[in-house]
Amino acid sequence: MLDVVKKPDYARVQRVVRGLHSEFDVTAPPVNPVEIARSKGFKVLFVEFSGEANNISGFYDFDEQTIYVNRDEYPLRQTFTVAHELGHALLHVEWASSDQYRILLRDSEYGGNDPYEKEANAFAAHLLVPRFLLDQYWQSNSVESLSRLFAVSVPMIKNRLSFEYGV
Ligand SMILES: [Zn+2]
Repeated sequence: MLDVVKKPDYARVQRVVRGLHSEFDVTAPPVNPVEIARSKGFKVLFVEFSGEANNISGFYDFDEQTIYVNRDEYPLRQTFTVAHELGHALLHVEWASSDQYRILLRDSEYGGNDPYEKEANAFAAHLLVPRFLLDQYWQSNSVESLSRLFAVSVPMIKNRLSFEYGV
């Protein structure tokens, strides 16, 4: 039975992300989620999503331990997708054994209120734009140059700056 009242556990998300940064010795941007996912034993495949599926950014197949990424999307979006799906892969194994995930996991957008989606989004944000790296760069760089440095979108940088420093 799926725990429908589950709330996002951001402390756990942060712990898992910190573990990865230390395991992969992340000391400078950009963080490469494809490398991390593959090193953790997951497959990452960039594929064509045809027809109705073309508005889907990606999804994670727990049985195949494979992250599928829509190859027609912008590279920055793909980076986010891989990080987001890696979050599901590492955080939501239990969810996978429920019968709800197959529907929910086909991500068409990431703005939902679902606690699993919120956790995967937080995972991606903290993995790709770690506080300890932001600390080194944010005051001396424009939002655009931070976006290039960290290889994430400008809105993602703005969210991270707002979250960490309230700016
Ligand atoms: Zn998702």
